[in-house]
Amino acid sequence: MEACILNPFSSISLSLQEAFLFFDELQLSLSIQKKSNMLNIITRAVKYIVVLVSSHIPYCNQPAPSATIAIDTVSAITVPKLDPGDTSRFVNIEIDMQKAQHPSFAFTDLPYDKTKGMMLMKDDALRSDYTFVFKILSGGTVNGKRYPGFTFTDGAGKEIGYKYSFAINPNEGHTTDINNVSSWAQINEMIAKGHGFMNHSFFHGGTDKLKAIKDAEKNMWRHTHYRMTEIAPPGNDEGYVESGLALGYHMIASEFGEPVPDGNNSPGNENMSWGSYIPMTTQNFKKVLISRTNLGDQWNREELKNAKDFIDYVFTNPNKDKKLIGAAFSHGPFGDKKEQADVFFEFINYIKNHPENHDSAWITSSKDLMDYVGTKAEIVIASQHYDAKTGKFKIVLDMKKVNPNITNRNLSLKVQGGEIVGVKAQGAKEVTFNSKTGLINIYKTDRSKVVDPFKEALPPQIVSTTASGKTLTITYDKPVAQSKAEGYEVTENKVLGLKGNGKIWQLTLERPVTKSQLFYYRIQRGDARQANQSTLRVCTYAGSPIKVI
Ligand SMILES: [Zn+2]
Repeated sequence: MEACILNPFSSISLSLQEAFLFFDELQLSLSIQKKSNMLNIITRAVKYIVVLVSSHIPYCNQPAPSATIAIDTVSAITVPKLDPGDTSRFVNIEIDMQKAQHPSFAFTDLPYDKTKGMMLMKDDALRSDYTFVFKILSGGTVNGKRYPGFTFTDGAGKEIGYKYSFAINPNEGHTTDINNVSSWAQINEMIAKGHGFMNHSFFHGGTDKLKAIKDAEKNMWRHTHYRMTEIAPPGNDEGYVESGLALGYHMIASEFGEPVPDGNNSPGNENMSWGSYIPMTTQNFKKVLISRTNLGDQWNREELKNAKDFIDYVFTNPNKDKKLIGAAFSHGPFGDKKEQADVFFEFINYIKNHPENHDSAWITSSKDLMDYVGTKAEIVIASQHYDAKTGKFKIVLDMKKVNPNITNRNLSLKVQGGEIVGVKAQGAKEVTFNSKTGLINIYKTDRSKVVDPFKEALPPQIVSTTASGKTLTITYDKPVAQSKAEGYEVTENKVLGLKGNGKIWQLTLERPVTKSQLFYYRIQRGDARQANQSTLRVCTYAGSPIKVI
């Protein structure tokens, strides 16, 4: 198996064997250290290794298509309509109380008032996403063996299924062996059970980041009507972080190797959450740039020890008050290795039966997590009133400001100052409560407001880059405004100036351009944007070829 080099930045690459040897040595040397420090160190060390191996992913055996700059090619097809859910703007909650004195409520930090959790991811949309992971988590038969599925409770008697997040390259073959990918029907079944899908770019790389991100969104949408709202950059490619943030993504989960994409973890400017967990009580949810531990791909006994260590590390972390959600990923278990299903099952069992769990962990997907915090952040308490005569505590919540792409609008709240004897909710699908703890869970799904990615305004895209001598002409598909030449780079050359207007711009270079030189535009350094529309910023181009005439 070859490492696939998608990142033109990485001129050095090790073979996979070399990389794994290096990793083995690292783990060996670390195994003598205290376990609590170990994973953190590994996570930080990984970022330095990743740059050496570039995209070292075992299954990324097909490079991105040749890096021509062109406008998108994905066109819409008609997908059967999904149930829109409960589309009402207001949620009216009516709580019957006894022994109440000035009752009040607050939204809980985590859904169901959990105190910790896991956000586990699997990359590249292999068939084993469905045949192993989905079947084991949601219940089904694997290798002739029946698995019951895994649940936790919502703190009020309702069973909630364990969720996983699948990072997908949603082109027709998902970029891997076409015979080894989850089908659209399987993906739709997984979505229906509440699992999350993360944008892993259309072709597992590519130099035009707008195209890589938006084509992925579009093709996922045309097959599923699921709008992806979190990114897992393929490998550690440059450009996904800042471009993703500009395109409305708030969570980007990666290994974040060096050189860091987009300066987000440059010294003194670290926006990263290192340590492979999200501190839920202190996290800035507008920018969740989360490192993720690699659990290992082989799902053998040796790797299982490390995977269990990761669970221990999150569940027994001294920063309990931060309510940590562990973030980890793997490409496995792989469907051609039967025993990997058993090891994976043991891993999930380890979470379920962990002595620090006791039904206190939220096993969630990236989407459920971001939808919960996004709903909570934008919801408005329109009114709340307790009537001592009737014993009714009425709360009206307004969802008007909630991001339209948030579909899971579930909420958990805790009531104090009295005992709950009954709860009714209008504008929601279901409500559960626990009179002992004061917990109320509101279940609401609203798919009616999600923006069709085919109908969305996109930033200007580069149609062509053509060089003649020392002049490079950049043609955009619509008028652009900009003043900073720093955004542009031509390899083995130097940009001396930028001029132009509307759709046509010119770079003046130090030396004549040759065919081997590559074109870069970096969103975080330049200021190119649509004329008269400053929010539509030109996204990163990382190493595109130039037409030399
Ligand atoms: Zn991948």
